[in-house]
Amino acid sequence: AGQIAACQPGNNAFITVADSPAPAPALSASPLAGVPMAYKDNLCTRGMRTTCASKILGDFTPCYDATAVERLTAAGAVSMGKLNLDEFAMGSTCETSYYGPAKNPWDLTRSPGGSSGGAAAAVAVGEVWYAIGSDTGGSIRQPASLCGCTGIKPTYGRVSRYGLIAYGSSLDQIGPLGRSVADCARVLGVIAGHDQRDATCDPRPVDDYDAAAAAPALKGARLGLPKEFYAEGLAPEVRAVCEKAIETARAEGAEIVEVSLPHTIATYYIIAMAEASSNLARFDGVRYGHRAADVKQLAELYVRSRSEGFGQEVKRRILLGTYVLSSGYYDAYFRKAAQVRRLIRDEYLAALEQCDALLAPVSPVTAWEMGCHSADPLQMYLMDAYTLSLNLAGLPGLSLPVGMAAESRMPVGMQLIGKAFDEAGLFRLGAGLEAALPGIGLAQL
Ligand code: GLN
Repeated sequence: AGQIAACQPGNNAFITVADSPAPAPALSASPLAGVPMAYKDNLCTRGMRTTCASKILGDFTPCYDATAVERLTAAGAVSMGKLNLDEFAMGSTCETSYYGPAKNPWDLTRSPGGSSGGAAAAVAVGEVWYAIGSDTGGSIRQPASLCGCTGIKPTYGRVSRYGLIAYGSSLDQIGPLGRSVADCARVLGVIAGHDQRDATCDPRPVDDYDAAAAAPALKGARLGLPKEFYAEGLAPEVRAVCEKAIETARAEGAEIVEVSLPHTIATYYIIAMAEASSNLARFDGVRYGHRAADVKQLAELYVRSRSEGFGQEVKRRILLGTYVLSSGYYDAYFRKAAQVRRLIRDEYLAALEQCDALLAPVSPVTAWEMGCHSADPLQMYLMDAYTLSLNLAGLPGLSLPVGMAAESRMPVGMQLIGKAFDEAGLFRLGAGLEAALPGIGLAQL
């Protein structure tokens, strides 16, 4: 709590700080019992307001916990509150939050990334031991990378989405951000697994992630480098750190092969926006949060509540999403995107046939100055070029810090991408890489 009080005025990582965190059940045997953590504010928490960083949800206070929250509470987790994000998790900078942007604790003039920017900012400076975020197109891996922490987007279906406020339902996954591979493994082991309340949650048993993280392995592993991820666009200082990490992996006995993943970005935005426009239809001024004042008829209530309640980026996506789904444009955009999505998945599966996991940069650049993309959303969308396609393919990705960039002096992360439900394999490889690299420590605010 002391660290939160000291850092919050600077990094604005929290939207809501818990008054007096609930004491952990005294007898919980879980190693997570009593450990301070926090949730991205798009996870429903019973009795604590859940804003999605939007005005439209206002002081919406859920009457139930998300499954991930329920499981961690049962394990004795101590929630310190709710973490900042881009409004409805739509963005890569944390700047579209109605509650003001979160900032990167390594340099407060820079963005922590997004959308789980508050989660990464809080973990990176030790306000919480770990955080729970969500990743639709990179929102765990990218802020983890820009803030120098570790995070995993699990396979689609590994973690129940019950109680996660939906952005793109076929892309969203919940996962942990922490300080090490072992911590992420431990937390994922608690939240993963079948849940009757989410029909897309997979029933297969959860592997022993703790054991995986405790058995680091690089020797003899085949790591694939997707060549499109190392092409033009990757900043030289990021490339330099990535190459060093690749050399380290090689020195530890990993075999490095080149693979190819030709299709990427536009497909994601068509699908994500289409799903967002449908998911966000429920925020109508009637059932949740903000309601426009002095309205005379029903249509006006919807229009004014939504106009006042949603921010600009969310409105842009609802409009574009509605457009690509509308009759006459559906075939040209949405159906095409769904077909390309299948191609992307096939490309990933073919690449993963040739190796145990892929190793790639997470972000083409290190954390950028706040505000530098606000005039041009397309520039911002390009920042996600290396993270989006993984969600389309539904595969798991573990992002971990691999060093500091020479010029910007900001953290650089890389992601290990694995076969479906091979989180354990990623933890073994990630632990191996982590042990072989010098580590970057915590930010100091
Ligand atoms: N930046 C991407 C987007 O804006 C991904 C965000 C996310 O993963 N929630 O859609």
